[in-house]
Amino acid sequence: MSRTGSPNTSALQEADPRVPFPRSQPPTSCQDKPDLFAHEHGDNGPEAHKRIEQARTLCAACPLAKHCLKWALANPSLVPTGIWAGTTARQRTVLRRRLVDRLGKNWVAVVAETDRNRRERATAARHTPLTVRDARLVRLDRELNGPMPRIRLPLTHEQQEHNRARLTAGLTGKTV
Ligand code: SF4
Repeated sequence: MSRTGSPNTSALQEADPRVPFPRSQPPTSCQDKPDLFAHEHGDNGPEAHKRIEQARTLCAACPLAKHCLKWALANPSLVPTGIWAGTTARQRTVLRRRLVDRLGKNWVAVVAETDRNRRERATAARHTPLTVRDARLVRLDRELNGPMPRIRLPLTHEQQEHNRARLTAGLTGKTV
C-alpha cells in the first residue's frame, strides 16, 4: 500500500469498504518519510529497532492514528509489512486475533457499526443539544466509568436502563 499523498487506487479498490482510508491535509509523517515506516519480517537489527521507535513516536502524534490502526487491521493483505499506527505486522496479527476473540469473526462489521452509530449520535447531538440534566448525566458517566473504550459492543436495553438508574441515583442521592 502506498504511503504517498495519493494512495494507490487499485489497492484502495481492494480495501474493505466498511473502514474508510484515513486521509489528511497536510501529509502525514509516513507520507513525508516512507522509508522510516518500512519494516520487513525478520528485520530485527539495531538499525531497524531505532527506525521503528522513531516511526512509533511520529505515529503517537498523528491525528489519524486511531483510523489508521482500524484501517490497517481491517486490511491485512494490503499492509503485510511496515509500521502502521505504531504497530508492526506481527503486532497487528496479535491484535486481529484479540478482536476475533472479543467481537467474533465478523469483528470488522461490529467495529464499523459501532463507528456509524457513534457518528449518528454525534450528528443528532449537534442538532439536539443536551438538556442540563442529560449533560450532568454524561459528566457523571465519565467520572464513574472513565472515557469510552475504543471499541464497545452496543449495550442491551437492560444494561442501558441499569446504567441510567445508577447515574440517576448518583445525581439524586437515592439508592437503586
Ligand atoms: S498513524 Fe502513523 S502510519 Fe498511520 S497515518 Fe499516521 S503517521 Fe502514518
